[in-house]
Amino acid sequence: MTTLIKNVTVVSDGKSLKTNVLIEDGFFVNVDADNEALPSDVDETLDAEGCFLLPGIIDDHVHFRQPGLTQKADMASESRAAAAGGVTTFFDMPNTVPQTTSLEALEEKFAIAATDSIVNYSFFFGATNDNADLFARLDPHRIPGIKLFMGASTGNMLVDRRQSLDRIFSTATMPVMTHCEDTAMMNANMAEAKRLYGDDPDVTHHPDIRSREACIECTRLAVELARQHHTRLHVAHISTKEELQLFEPHDDNITAEAVIAHLMFSAEDYITKGTRIKCNPAVKTADDREALRQAIADGRISVIGTDHAPHLLADKHGGCAKAASGMPSIQYSLCSMLELVDKGYISMTRLVELMCHNPARIFGVSRRGYIRPGYKADCVLVRKGTPWTVTDGDVLSKCGWTPLTGHQFSWRVERTICNGKTIYADGKIQDTTAGEAVRFRE
Ligand SMILES: [Zn+2]
Repeated sequence: MTTLIKNVTVVSDGKSLKTNVLIEDGFFVNVDADNEALPSDVDETLDAEGCFLLPGIIDDHVHFRQPGLTQKADMASESRAAAAGGVTTFFDMPNTVPQTTSLEALEEKFAIAATDSIVNYSFFFGATNDNADLFARLDPHRIPGIKLFMGASTGNMLVDRRQSLDRIFSTATMPVMTHCEDTAMMNANMAEAKRLYGDDPDVTHHPDIRSREACIECTRLAVELARQHHTRLHVAHISTKEELQLFEPHDDNITAEAVIAHLMFSAEDYITKGTRIKCNPAVKTADDREALRQAIADGRISVIGTDHAPHLLADKHGGCAKAASGMPSIQYSLCSMLELVDKGYISMTRLVELMCHNPARIFGVSRRGYIRPGYKADCVLVRKGTPWTVTDGDVLSKCGWTPLTGHQFSWRVERTICNGKTIYADGKIQDTTAGEAVRFRE
C-alpha cells in the first residue's frame, strides 16, 4: 500500500517545508519528494494544498479507564477520540481497576489494547509503597516508564513513605513520571474548608484546597530526590508559576509536562464551567496559566500531554469533596495548541517538539514522533479555515462532554494516519485496525 501526500507543508525536525511525502507499507519512504520525480503508480494520492503535515501526536498522559472503570471510558472509545484529535500514540496511566502495579495487570492492558485500540499504545507501570522489586522484571522495550503518585488522586495509589520514595528513585532505570501534590497539606486545607463552608465546599475553593503550596512542596521534593539518586524524572502536569523555577530549560534528566487544562483554563472559568474543569492538580490563576504558556516556549516545559481523564457528568455533581476530578481533552489537544501558535506563544515547529519529538525522545520511543524516512508513518494533516464551535455532540469519548463546549477553533484535524493507514478523515473514524504496541529504546 502506497500513499502520496502532495503539496503539503511538512513540519518536523525544526523545519517547515512545502513538499510531497510518500508512504509505503506503513513507513515514510520519502519525505521531500521532487515534483518531477513523483511516482505515478501509487494506490492513493492526497492533494493537501493548504494543509500542514505534523508527526502524529504522542500523548504521554491519558486515563482510558480500562479495565475496571469502563462506564466512564474504554480503549475503543478513547482511542477513537484520540484519532479524531490527531493523536496516534498514547501512554495510559496505572490508576485503573485493578491498578497496573503487577506484571499480570500490565499484560492484561496490552491484551485489551491489541484488540480494541485504533491508535498506538503503551502503559506506565504504577509504583506502590512496596513493589520496587518488580522494576527489574519490566521490559524497557515495551513501556515508557514508572508512574508514581506522590499525592493522592483518582484511585488512591499514594506513595508517601520516604523510605519507599528513596527506593523507587534509586531502583528505577526507566523514567519516573510523578504526580506531585503534598497530601498532608491538602488534607489540612480540606478540613479547614469543610469547617468554613460545610461538607462539600463549592468548586471555586478547589485551588485553595489542592493548593499551589502543596504542588510546589511536592515537586521540590521530587526534583531533590531525582538529583540525589540520579533518576530520570518527568514531573506531570505542572500547574504553578513557582514550580517552573525548579526546571532548567532543555535539561533532559529532569523534565516537566504541562497539560491542556492548565494551558487553556484559569480560576475565572470555575464560575462558568464549574466542576467540568475540576482536575488534580487544580486549575489555578490566570497568572499561572500565562507563566505555563511562557514556559512551553522557553523550554522549561518539555512535553504537552493531555491528562485526558474522562468522568460521566453524573460523577461531576457536587463540589470539592464530592465531584470527581478530571476531564476529557484528547480530541481537542492539538487544536488547542494550534490556537496558542496563532496567539504567538509558540511556533509550529515548537508545537511539534512539545507534542511529538520530545515525548518520543524523553521516553525513547522507537521510530515514531518525526516525519523521517524509515520512521513509522504516523502523521496528522491540519488546516486552518472558517472558525467552528465545539459541542458536546461532537465528542467521541464515552463520557459525551467536553469542557471546551462553546469554544471556537479555527484549526481542524483533516486526516489522521497511523502506521500508514487513514484512521480519521472527513469527520469520521476510518480504519480501526492500525494500532500497534509502541517499542522503546531500540
Ligand atoms: Zn493524570
